[in-house]
Amino acid sequence: MAQKFQNLINGKWVDAVSGRTFENRNPANWEEVVGIFPKSGKEDVDAAVKAARAAFEKWRLVPAPKRGDIMRTIGDLLVKRKEEISREMTREMGKVLAETRGDVQEGIDTAYYAATEGRRLFGHTVPSELPNKFAMAMRVPIGVAGIITPWNFPMAIPTWKMFPAILSGNTCVFKPATDTPKTAAMLVEIMMEAGLPEGVVNIVHGGGSEVGNAITSHPDVDLISFTGSTGVGKQISRDSSETLKRVSLELGGKNAQIVLADADLDLALEAVLWGAFGTTGQRCTATSRLILEEKIYDKFIAMLVDRTNKLKLGDGLLPDSQVGPCVNEGQRKSVQEYVQIGKNEGAKLLAGGNFATEGALAKGWFHQPTIFGDVTPEMRLAKEEIFGPVLSVIRAKDFEESIRILNNTEYGLSSSIFTTDVNKAFTAVRDIQAGITYINAATIGAEAHLPFGGVKKTGNGHREGGWTVYDFYTEWKAVYVDYSGKLQRAQIDNY
Ligand code: NAD
Repeated sequence: MAQKFQNLINGKWVDAVSGRTFENRNPANWEEVVGIFPKSGKEDVDAAVKAARAAFEKWRLVPAPKRGDIMRTIGDLLVKRKEEISREMTREMGKVLAETRGDVQEGIDTAYYAATEGRRLFGHTVPSELPNKFAMAMRVPIGVAGIITPWNFPMAIPTWKMFPAILSGNTCVFKPATDTPKTAAMLVEIMMEAGLPEGVVNIVHGGGSEVGNAITSHPDVDLISFTGSTGVGKQISRDSSETLKRVSLELGGKNAQIVLADADLDLALEAVLWGAFGTTGQRCTATSRLILEEKIYDKFIAMLVDRTNKLKLGDGLLPDSQVGPCVNEGQRKSVQEYVQIGKNEGAKLLAGGNFATEGALAKGWFHQPTIFGDVTPEMRLAKEEIFGPVLSVIRAKDFEESIRILNNTEYGLSSSIFTTDVNKAFTAVRDIQAGITYINAATIGAEAHLPFGGVKKTGNGHREGGWTVYDFYTEWKAVYVDYSGKLQRAQIDNY
C-alpha cells in the first residue's frame, strides 16, 4: 500500500478540500508507486495564503538571530536524515545516489548559511546632510512568498528559496513539482520539527495550472520565487503582474563548455562527461554544447565517444549506476524528439540515440547518453534546451570564434572554458555572457554561498544563493532620526 501524504496548512496536515489525489511513481521502475499526494486547487491555496498572512504578523517580530537558531536546527535535522532523504529522492526522481546526497548537502549548507545570516542582515548607516540628524537604511521583511519549484533539485532549490525567505521574516506557501512531492514533504516536516510556528511554512501539492496559478495570481501573495522553464516563467510573469508582485525567475539554459587546443584534455573530458550526463543531463546548468577548437576536434571526439559508450545506465540506488533515468515519460519522449531533430538537421550521431530497453531498464524511463557531432550554431540542437542526456559538439576555428559560438544563445546561465593560457582564461571571464563561468571546471557545481542565476532569457536579473538572495526577500527602509529639537528641512535649510 503506497504511503499517503497531505498538505500542510497552518501547522495541520490536511487533504485537498476536493479530496482528489495524484500518484508519484519511480522513474527507474514505473510499477513502483512512491506515494499518493493531494491534488489541490484554488481553495487550498486560499487557506494556505490566509494562514501565511496571519503567521507573518507574528513571525516578522521574531528577532532574526532567533529565526537563525531555527535554521540551524533545520540544518542539524537534515544532517541526521541525509541518507534517508537522499534514497527517497533517488526513488522519486531518478538521479544517482551520490548526486541526491549532494542535493541534500546543498540544503544543509543553505540552512547553516541562513542561520549565520540571522546575525548579519546588514543595513547601512550614512551621515545626514543636516546637523543632529541620524540616517540609516535597514532591511524589513515583505510578507507572503509563493515558492514554485521544479523537480531536478528537489531539496536544494526549495531550500535556496525558503530558508532566506523565512530567515528574513517572511512566510511561505510552497508548491513543489508533481514529480518530487515526497522530498518536499520531508523537508517541510523537518522545518516544522525544528520549531517553526504554524503558518510560517505551508505546502500545497498539485499541478502548475491549478495550484501554481492560484498562487501567482493571489492578491495577498507579495513575492513569487520561481525556478523552471522559460515558457512557464513568462506565464508567471504575466499572471503576477496584475497584483504587482516582486518576482524572481530562474529559467532555462543552453550551457557550453569550450575546450581549447592548449587545454588538459583528460581533465576536460572528465568535466564534459560529468557536465553533460550527470543528473541525466537534467540540470539547468548541464553542459548541452561542447565547443572544440578545430585542432583537437577529432582527437577529443574519439576520447569522448569511447568513454560515453562505457557509462553505466541504471537505477540510481545501485552502486555501479552512473546515469539514471529521465524523470518521466514525457521528458524521455522529448529527448527522443530532439534526437530525431538532430538527425533531420544533418548532425552526426556519434553515440547513443535510443531508449534503453534491455533487462531491468525496460521498466524505467532510461535513455542512452547521446552525442551529436558536426553540429552548427544554426541548428535547433545548438539553440534549444533539451534537458536530457544529449550533447551537441560544435567546431570552432580559434579562441575568439569559440566565445562567439558560446554567446550565440538566448540563454546565459553557466559556462566553462578549458585552457592553460591565463590571458585567454581572463578574456573569457570578461567576454562570456553568463551568470556563472568556470575556468577548468565543468558547467555544474554551484556552491551555496555564491550568487546563482543567469543573464538574458535565463532569468529576470535576481540571484539566489549567498548574500545576494537577501536583496530579493527584503525591502529597504530608510530611517531618519532628528535629534535637533527643531524642524530641519532637507535641501532647503542647509543650502
Ligand atoms: P516547469 O516550468 O515545467 O515547472 C516548474 C514548476 O512550475 C512546477 O512546480 C510546475 O508545476 C509549475 N508550473 C507549471 N505551470 C505553471 C503555471 N502556469 N503557473 C504556476 N506554476 C506553474 O519546469 P520543470 O520541468 O519542473 O523543470 C525543468 C526546467 O527548469 C528547465 O527548463 C530547467 O532549465 C529549469 N531549471 C532552471 C534552474 C535555474 O536555476 N535557472 C534550475 C533548475 C531547473
